[in-house]
Amino acid sequence: MPDAQQAISRLGNLSYVSPSVESPWGTYLAQVDRVVPYLGELARWAETLRRPKRALIVDVPIALDNGEIAHFEGYRVQHSLSRGPGKGGVRYHPSVTMEEVMALAAWMTVKNAAVNLPFGGAKGGIRLDPKALSSRELERVTRRYTSEIGFIIGPQQDIPAPDVNTNAQIMAWMMDTYSKNVGVTTTGVVTGKPVSLGGSLGRVKATGRGVFVTGRDAMHRLKIPMPGARIAIQGFGNVGANAAELFSMAGAKIVAVQDHGGSLFNARGLNVRALAAHVLQHGSVAGFPEADELGQEEFWTVEAEVVIPAALEGQINEVRAKLLNAQLVLEAANGPTTPAADDILAARNIAVLPDVICNAGGVIVSYFEWVQDFSSFFWSEDEINLRLDKIITGALDHIWATSTRQRVSLRTGAFVVACERILEARNQRGLYP
Ligand code: GLU
Repeated sequence: MPDAQQAISRLGNLSYVSPSVESPWGTYLAQVDRVVPYLGELARWAETLRRPKRALIVDVPIALDNGEIAHFEGYRVQHSLSRGPGKGGVRYHPSVTMEEVMALAAWMTVKNAAVNLPFGGAKGGIRLDPKALSSRELERVTRRYTSEIGFIIGPQQDIPAPDVNTNAQIMAWMMDTYSKNVGVTTTGVVTGKPVSLGGSLGRVKATGRGVFVTGRDAMHRLKIPMPGARIAIQGFGNVGANAAELFSMAGAKIVAVQDHGGSLFNARGLNVRALAAHVLQHGSVAGFPEADELGQEEFWTVEAEVVIPAALEGQINEVRAKLLNAQLVLEAANGPTTPAADDILAARNIAVLPDVICNAGGVIVSYFEWVQDFSSFFWSEDEINLRLDKIITGALDHIWATSTRQRVSLRTGAFVVACERILEARNQRGLYP
């Protein structure tokens, strides 16, 4: 392919976004370019991966507690519905954009197919700083947003869930608002709900558990012993903190942690429970007494066996990929590694377990929740964890074998497995009308 044409295919030709090579959608498009040569006849449909099926922008006006009216921008993108209803979280963050939500929706399509869930891929978001709003204001934003996107979501259409800065309470408000609008209590419209409203046991910890289970498997394959393994984690929210706890219970040492407030180091391993209690009280890891402070960039140079980005996209860029002093990256976040960084890590022989398998534990248990809601029959936590472990390790095994057979990275291997399923469905359904 000539260079100019390659650049266009890499950055797409949609009028409503202008991605860069390092931005989330640019990163996703580069990942698609890398899988296309392995798709054979199905490559004919590859362009469908580069275009979201449907992208909705909504205005979300609310009355603030002081009586003023504030407007927020909300999004819901359904990237693909070829294999089933849309599925993916809703993110509240001041830097959320349409382009970011498009990439996150596309990664959901790939993730759901990589672990073979009967879903397409979707994602939503509202551009706001949740810390600047009261709980009443957050409820109003959530309810208005749900009403605005109400005509494209539903238990058979598209099922939202928690993501960055959203939780079970927000899902309860979404479920209630949707149910009131359609006149029927519809628990299956969202997952990640409180257990008292048809939520699933094990859902809150599921993403962190999936990171641990796939990480342990990858460490075993790469001959990195768990006892004493040094781990650096960026992000100590629901995913990072739960993964940290499971790794430290298995004998690994969490030697470094970074979040929006600061970075910590303790060569003997941080006390994860005490750190979680500190974060609950102070809102950040900063100021935790049993550790030394690290500089923001210094965090990426820490000597460790495993690095876990568990925050936002694009964190491991070209510069940081050269600094990493580790053998394995576990992508607990979505899209944390840029394509240029992927190449540097590969050249440095640092393995990357990609997001679409590493953090799939959350959506797998969301799937269980959706199934339980439909059948009104609820499973025990042990049963949920057993089924989660079985699905995620089975999928990892399939991806690992594909990567080895095709001599490609684990990311491209995961994309091969997923994109074959997505495009096979697309091909069999055909074009209509
Ligand atoms: N937000 C999570 C993710 O990025 C979970 C999505 C879901 O459960 O639908 O995978």
